[in-house]
Amino acid sequence: TDPMTGEVIKAADIDLSRLVIERTKNPKEIPDTSKLVFGRQFTDHMICVPWNSTTGWGAPKIQPYGPLNLDPSSTVLHYAPTLFEGLKAYKGKDGVPRLFRPDKNMERMNRSAARLAFPTFTGEHVTTLIKKLVEIDSAWVPTDPGTSLYIRPTMIGTQAGLGVGASTDILLFVIASPVGPYYSTGFKPVKLYATTKDVRAWPGGTGGYKLGSNYAAGVVPQQQAAALGYQQILWLFGPEHRLTEVGTMNLGVAFSRNDGSVEFVTPPLDDMILPGVTRDSILSLLRDHESGKNRLEGLPDKLIVSERQLTSEGAGHCRRVQGVTLREIFGCGTAAIVSPVDGIGYQDELIKVPVGEDGCGDIARVMLREIVGRQTGDIPSEWSFPV
Ligand code: PMP
Repeated sequence: TDPMTGEVIKAADIDLSRLVIERTKNPKEIPDTSKLVFGRQFTDHMICVPWNSTTGWGAPKIQPYGPLNLDPSSTVLHYAPTLFEGLKAYKGKDGVPRLFRPDKNMERMNRSAARLAFPTFTGEHVTTLIKKLVEIDSAWVPTDPGTSLYIRPTMIGTQAGLGVGASTDILLFVIASPVGPYYSTGFKPVKLYATTKDVRAWPGGTGGYKLGSNYAAGVVPQQQAAALGYQQILWLFGPEHRLTEVGTMNLGVAFSRNDGSVEFVTPPLDDMILPGVTRDSILSLLRDHESGKNRLEGLPDKLIVSERQLTSEGAGHCRRVQGVTLREIFGCGTAAIVSPVDGIGYQDELIKVPVGEDGCGDIARVMLREIVGRQTGDIPSEWSFPV
């Protein structure tokens, strides 16, 4: 309240000076990294920051991890006003936890918030809170190669009431979960089922935002693909069967051309493509190689980087297109970084996709090495935010 007028002043932004830290009295046993199941174990603490349309952002709190108290009429439970992010903290050889490009996640979180009529905030403030959480729970950041602490910032509409509209009450919270190594036993290339029946995202839709409501409807198609023996879905769009994303990952495709060059293609950002942080990192690394600014060992000498539309004609049948050979396909995202693909089920045909002896293509292999190096601090980088 204003000390002069007594009026309630709406806090336009998250105020870090009001941070309250309540430490747990019952610390949990930190699980063995070999026993970790993705997203099942959570650290001792969580961040909560409430927002109300009259008073604005409330005091941020780091408190013991535990259930939320929600009214059964809360808008999130009915109309799905919910968004989330996913980023990781990695402990390097020096034992320092580092966040990887949290600024990009905060930028995307604010875009998602605006799309849901949620309040926005200064991204650095939430990054600062996340650093504080990771510092408090730093014993939970695993150290074995390939392991990390997965951090899940979330926002939900908590207003009690069944009217459909902008929620007057919002909760921003952040939880964190230690995760085991993705490739402890080497690459596991996946087979994709290219669905022409179900559509993940469409022009004018919300596929380019990280909203919870984009994910629930993907479970049945995923189950159907799994029943047919495929690990992931290749989401197609439109009559030309445009290739958009792989499961919950962005898509990368490489072609060898007769002139000896290699073209790397990922679909351009639009309503159907989530602006992935891994996608952006890969584009940046590959473009620096292409321009000669930072050549990377193991990548093709003549590399052309394109953000352009791909159709199944282009990817699936390119072996029949003169002068171009399909060379490599992978999904990319925070969870696995890269996920090499060795086959695509498309219209009663299994299209074979080449992989190296290790089960991975050249570009995905080098991207994994370069990104992991920057995540752990082995390769100095402005993408790495030490805690
Ligand atoms: N597409 C979708 C639909 C996703 O859910 C994700 C995971 N966040 C990605 C792509 C990859 O994004 P990122 O590299 O930021 O994890």
